[in-house]
Amino acid sequence: MSRVPVFKSGIRPVEPNASLERHTQRFLELRRGLEQIEYFCKGTVLKRMMKCGKAQCACASDATKRHGPYFELTYKANGKTVNVKLSPEAAPLYRAAALAMVILETASGLDAP
Ligand SMILES: [Zn+2]
Repeated sequence: MSRVPVFKSGIRPVEPNASLERHTQRFLELRRGLEQIEYFCKGTVLKRMMKCGKAQCACASDATKRHGPYFELTYKANGKTVNVKLSPEAAPLYRAAALAMVILETASGLDAP
């Protein structure tokens, strides 16, 4: 009695074809892209110039005399905006990480909620 290969429903033997080749190329392309990414995080890095609140300080009347820059990472969690203060040294790292997240979301076809 000859045996006929049985495949579970929905699973079929894969034959090499143009579509598979295209997906393979895309996979390798995405994986190369991932190798470039070190850190990633959700959110946006904001640069703020602040008033100190002292009435006699120059910042009170002149926007160009405000203090800073101060950096913040802002992102949404459970529908609420969260702000995290960043040191000037950390800001460029977070900015690059936030950009990496956008690249990841674009590459994966996911959109930010
Ligand atoms: Zn001031």
